[in-house]
Amino acid sequence: AKAEGKNQWALFDTERNASEVAQFRLSATMPAALEHNEFYVDYQPLVGLDHYRVSGVEALVRWWHPELGRLGPDRFIGLAEETGMIVSLGRWVLRQACKQARLWQDEFGSAAPFMSVNLAVRQSRDPNLVSDVAEILDETGLEPGMLQLELTESAIMSTADEPLEALRTLARMGVRIAIDDFGTGYSNLAYLRHLPVHELKIAGSFMEGVGEDQNLDPVDARIIGTVVDLSHALGLTVTAEGVETRAQATRMREIGCETGQGWFFAKPGPPEDVRTLLEAPQDA
Ligand code: C2E
Ligand code: CA
Ligand code: CA
Repeated sequence: AKAEGKNQWALFDTERNASEVAQFRLSATMPAALEHNEFYVDYQPLVGLDHYRVSGVEALVRWWHPELGRLGPDRFIGLAEETGMIVSLGRWVLRQACKQARLWQDEFGSAAPFMSVNLAVRQSRDPNLVSDVAEILDETGLEPGMLQLELTESAIMSTADEPLEALRTLARMGVRIAIDDFGTGYSNLAYLRHLPVHELKIAGSFMEGVGEDQNLDPVDARIIGTVVDLSHALGLTVTAEGVETRAQATRMREIGCETGQGWFFAKPGPPEDVRTLLEAPQDA
């Protein structure tokens, strides 16, 4: 039994090492993958809850890996953060997304959606952030007001003085700042007063409590209601993430969220999918 036990540990160790090796390989191939255009961006609409019109889109990166196939961001964003690769990958996503937004700006004018791009903690601390964003806006000709940057609560709360100054500069340039996944971390709404934030995105996990009967868990409902009211008092708009059913969309509208995002409206997809929605009659 002792020997068996020992073998089990040996096996366990080997498995762990194998997955560590795989992770290491994955991160080591990222720079070449970026050069070889293995990354691409899907777009998911943000939809007004009172009229169901597309007001914005979120850019979501994917990796088309030659051996492993399609990898979602949960497989590689963490790794990219660890190695620092996220800075160049993030810059690539931003450029891609702004190019796409500019195409829609040209085609749809005032009906064009704004572009929302995720910003990793490490990017928010990158001293070149402001100049990178300015350069990409300049290069693509996208209006700064058509760009939104999403940061998680923990990113924004842990942000030291200098990165905060960068966010303020971006906001002064006209770029919108959103708090992503609100409610999943340590939340401090009072703190928002001192931050250049325009939008708050309520994490999809809050949507779980809404059933087909539209009855939201009363505690959840009061928490969301309070968050929405305080956000409005601070001049922020509120987006409900992870909306999967009509009941959830209706309930979130009743609670006061302006915008929804989720499978009920559209899954993330190629730019053509968004274009189809933008071309559809908008008065339904
Ligand atoms: P996120 O920013 O919260 O993005 C929303 C995620 O929810 C996306 O997952 C989206 O596909 C998924 N989602 C949308 N609607 C629904 C729904 O109705 N139900 C459910 N269950 N899920 C829904 P995805 O694309 O796998 O992205 C995961 C995370 O990876 C993102 O979460 C974001 O934190 C990160 N990420 C994606 N792209 C980038 C990027 O370019 N840069 C950085 N730094 N992070 C990124
Ligand atoms: Ca996001
Ligand atoms: Ca989110």
